[in-house]
Amino acid sequence: MFIDIHTHVQQFSDEDLELLVNNSKNSNIELIIAAGTTISDSRKTINLSKKYDLIYSAVGIHPQNILDEDTKGYLNILEELTKNEKTIMISEIGLDIQPDSPDINLQKEFFSNQINIARKSKLPIAFHVRNAEKEAIDLIASENIKDIKSVAHYFVGNYEYAKKLLDNNCYISIAKPFLRDAILAEVISKLPLEKLVIETDSYPQYFKKNRMRWTEPKDLILIVNKLSEILDVNKSKLIEILNKNAKNILGI
Ligand SMILES: [Zn+2]
Repeated sequence: MFIDIHTHVQQFSDEDLELLVNNSKNSNIELIIAAGTTISDSRKTINLSKKYDLIYSAVGIHPQNILDEDTKGYLNILEELTKNEKTIMISEIGLDIQPDSPDINLQKEFFSNQINIARKSKLPIAFHVRNAEKEAIDLIASENIKDIKSVAHYFVGNYEYAKKLLDNNCYISIAKPFLRDAILAEVISKLPLEKLVIETDSYPQYFKKNRMRWTEPKDLILIVNKLSEILDVNKSKLIEILNKNAKNILGI
């Protein structure tokens, strides 16, 4: 059984989602976290969690999407959304520095505030970091997030960065990039297995013409196969540990 700790399956069309859910069931996927990127997208994750047994909801505002819609009163709204029984995480939150990103200080404010929601509602967080590793480490250290369960999602950094995440008690979530990046695979091979989880970050990939090639939770097996090889751990033992780590984070 596998747990996909970070996806955006709520962004699939109804038809594509039916296929994804069927594929997931046929691939031993036990649980999929659908992470919201805006308030309205977070609401969609809740709707899906009510419709599908294996889908659970995470609510949050992604740093890239802070200005996409009116966020007036977002703290109260998100807190209210966490009351849904199957909302078990605050995500996707974080920092993202690109030319078109919102002002970094505004991003930090949203990140900190959403960490506080997690603390108040006793939920874990999964956070996104792009080109902002130093800023992110500074922020999680100053917020002292050691008391909450946290996941650095879609890890693609170097060992020094991984070490700082571990020092802040973060779990590290492994996605597909290391399948074709030997340097990243080398870094991951040095990480402690008891701090690893896996994810696909699945979202509808309309740019790929062949629907069968879209990334879906069923691809977790590719990640597990490769991890088993680079960590030199028996596959069933590895699956058991990854599953236990994810359940520990999610409190289930
Ligand atoms: Zn994501």
